[in-house]
Amino acid sequence: MQSIQSEGYPVIFENSIPELVKFVEQGNYSRFFILTDENTGEHCLPIVQTALAHLDNFDIIEVNAGEENKNIDFCVGVWKMLIDFGADRKALMINLGGGVITDMGGFVASTYKRGIDFVQVPTTLLSQVDASVGGKTGVDVDGIKNIIGTFTQPRAVFMADEFLHTLPPRQILSGLAEMLKHGLIVDRQYWDTLKTSDLSLPSTELIHRSVEIKNEIVLQDPHEKSIRKALNFGHTIGHAVETWSLLNDKDPLTHGEAIAIGMICEAWLSNQKTDLPDNELIEIIEVLGGLYPHYQITEESLPTLLEHMQKDKKNLNGNINCTLLTNIGQYSIDNICFADELCDSLRYYAA
Ligand code: NAD
Ligand code: ZN
Repeated sequence: MQSIQSEGYPVIFENSIPELVKFVEQGNYSRFFILTDENTGEHCLPIVQTALAHLDNFDIIEVNAGEENKNIDFCVGVWKMLIDFGADRKALMINLGGGVITDMGGFVASTYKRGIDFVQVPTTLLSQVDASVGGKTGVDVDGIKNIIGTFTQPRAVFMADEFLHTLPPRQILSGLAEMLKHGLIVDRQYWDTLKTSDLSLPSTELIHRSVEIKNEIVLQDPHEKSIRKALNFGHTIGHAVETWSLLNDKDPLTHGEAIAIGMICEAWLSNQKTDLPDNELIEIIEVLGGLYPHYQITEESLPTLLEHMQKDKKNLNGNINCTLLTNIGQYSIDNICFADELCDSLRYYAA
């Protein structure tokens, strides 16, 4: 499987762990740090540690798992550890984990001593097909997702499918939502292929195609001035539902589960506002409805959900913006959506 070239760095698919070792050996780094959480520490770190066992200039930094820890307090903890370990400007961070670790580790590295090198070793499907590529790093503040962050490119991304074998099925479904989104926004054929594939563990070929799609988009618009907004399909409403669930549910929705809800609502908005044909709306609902459990959204939750959308960092001039579809495989950016339309789309989902 060919590597994909992104903005100044490769995304490596073949022999990824030996390639990571080679990268570290040849990189002339003073010291390197592997950032993991408790789960990747258990399931993924042994593989990486064994491969790097002949080197002695590294430390492991393990943090608690979960989105609730993707915040500045945790970054401060990691920055302090880097200081205590004596990390200098020639240190390297290896972010070994899902999107929480790649986002937070990228942010920590991009700000420590005004920026040290980092590489991403994504271990969830979601972080492989989405979070680890494109240079966005960040953390949440007061439950607002990714509100503080930087655009900083890693030195390389290493994709290893062996990590996916220990992922719980819900986490596979979470990443799958982004893959389906890639098809919906730009590639009808890929969407059709996904629909008819065994998705219990998507193949490396399918993962590769998703990374290719995301990469083609971010290369054209790294700072999200225009077409990168295509990737926000499902995310205006999805992020609000995700935030709501994080604050209210004992067992919160995963990112992808929330985005699947957002994609159904925004497909309905597309049908109303950008002429997505009725049969395509039904097709989207059937596919997503067949994969993801229904989530209860009450009338009473709508004002709070709207409030979350109003705080969305993608808003311009106080307007809530959505990326919509004109067809399956074609997107339309910068659609202003009004409060009553957004609420109606959530009511449509809830019905
Ligand atoms: P995550 O990092 O929380 O991982 C999900 C869970 O799986 C965690 O409990 C983790 O410990 C565990 N885990 C990770 N790898 C494992 C493995 N191989 N085996 C067993 N368990 C494993 O969440 P995620 O879904 O990977 O990422 C979500 C985050 O990614 C969100 O914060 C989102 O904002 C961010 N994100 C960022 C971008 C971007 O462009 N930067 C894009 C999409 C999503
Ligand atoms: Zn997403």
